[in-house]
Amino acid sequence: METLLLLAHTEADGSLAMAALEALGAATALKPVPGGSTLIVGLIGDSVQPAANQIAACGASRFLGVAGKDFASPRYATDAAAAQALVKAAAATVVLAPGTSRFARCLAGVAQRVGGRADTHVTAMSAPDGQLSVSRWYYRQRMESVLRREQRPWFILIDAGSQSMWQGAVGTAAVEIVSVALADSAKRTTVTGFRAPSADAQTIRPEAELLFVAGAGWTKKQADGQVRSAEAEKLILEFLKRSRASLGSSKSLVDQCGEGQAVLSFLSHLNQIGQTGSTPRHPKGLSTCCHGEEPHTVGWRFINERRAISLDPNCGWARGKAEVLYVADAFKVLAKVNELLSAASNSHYDPYVVPALAGQREKTG
Ligand SMILES: Cc1cc2nc3c(=O)[nH]c(=O)nc-3n(C[C@H](O)[C@H](O)[C@H](O)COP(=O)(O)OP(=O)(O)OC[C@H]3O[C@@H](n4cnc5c(N)ncnc54)[C@H](O)[C@@H]3O)c2cc1C
Repeated sequence: METLLLLAHTEADGSLAMAALEALGAATALKPVPGGSTLIVGLIGDSVQPAANQIAACGASRFLGVAGKDFASPRYATDAAAAQALVKAAAATVVLAPGTSRFARCLAGVAQRVGGRADTHVTAMSAPDGQLSVSRWYYRQRMESVLRREQRPWFILIDAGSQSMWQGAVGTAAVEIVSVALADSAKRTTVTGFRAPSADAQTIRPEAELLFVAGAGWTKKQADGQVRSAEAEKLILEFLKRSRASLGSSKSLVDQCGEGQAVLSFLSHLNQIGQTGSTPRHPKGLSTCCHGEEPHTVGWRFINERRAISLDPNCGWARGKAEVLYVADAFKVLAKVNELLSAASNSHYDPYVVPALAGQREKTG
């Protein structure tokens, strides 16, 4: 029998973010529950009651909280002290937590303090024979391992985007507040504010429905013999603004940016998808002006539905890397799509329901 502690921190408005609800979703979906386990929720934040109410119906047997101004902002010393107190109060054998930067920073240290072990980047949990197992990927998402541990408490940090969020009615939870005595030395670090790019400058949007990938073709000579980077920039930015898609890139394109060529100014290596880039999670992906080579498409592993626009009918996307390849000029397609998006700007946009593309579809193997 395990005692599962779902550990979460609240957001600035007191609520729980998507990643925390996903971790809770993973905990409640665990079937069969290892040896009749119990679920306890542990919350950290300025005020934890709104978050507890948000998940009051999750079936937890207890709601514990460490609350107060000292626990409002991410800080190693106070987060670690709070997590340690909650693990102790719950007598947890398994600690499930969202793999946020806040928890990734401190939970391995907490595991060390309480004589446990920690696994990060977990993407699945199961208990087929009543014993808890977790899955995670290795070697740039090429190999998946399923592992078990004897050591307790076992800290499991779950990757955001890998689970279904817990959903349920808001209620009223009775929170048991756990007090944590903090030395002054634990409060030396202070958060003085947040700096974030403006919404339009922020092109990486992990929660977007669509990943839009730009390839090097956007900056290559086109049929008219001209390089049309400025036009490409305008088309892509307008599409991102209207669709709220997340922007990815091929390596060739971001490398050109680093080499100082006149290319797309809003791209950096952070946008790179692939073997030496990132492996984001989005329900849908649309690749444009990209050849779809293996080192790039390996980064699409967690994109559920893939489509591509390329002039080359023999590109990698046509060889089983995408469900649909549009053999077309991406400049023309995106101009038309932007026009349609502009016309439909007040209605909900499904990135694949664009009539202009319907006649150009080519199903790939
Ligand atoms: C060790 C190693 C690691 C690597 N890691 C990565 C990685 O992490 N990520 C990554 O992306 N790559 C990676 N690469 C590089 C990868 O192999 C490819 O070279 C790269 O992905 C090619 O980028 P691309 O498809 O954008 O450019 P290109 O190969 O130049 O393809 C451009 C495409 O655009 C099309 N095109 C041009 N104009 C238009 C138009 N108007 N409309 C439609 N289509 C058009 C062309 O037909 C062409 O297919 C790696 C390579 C190595 C060796």
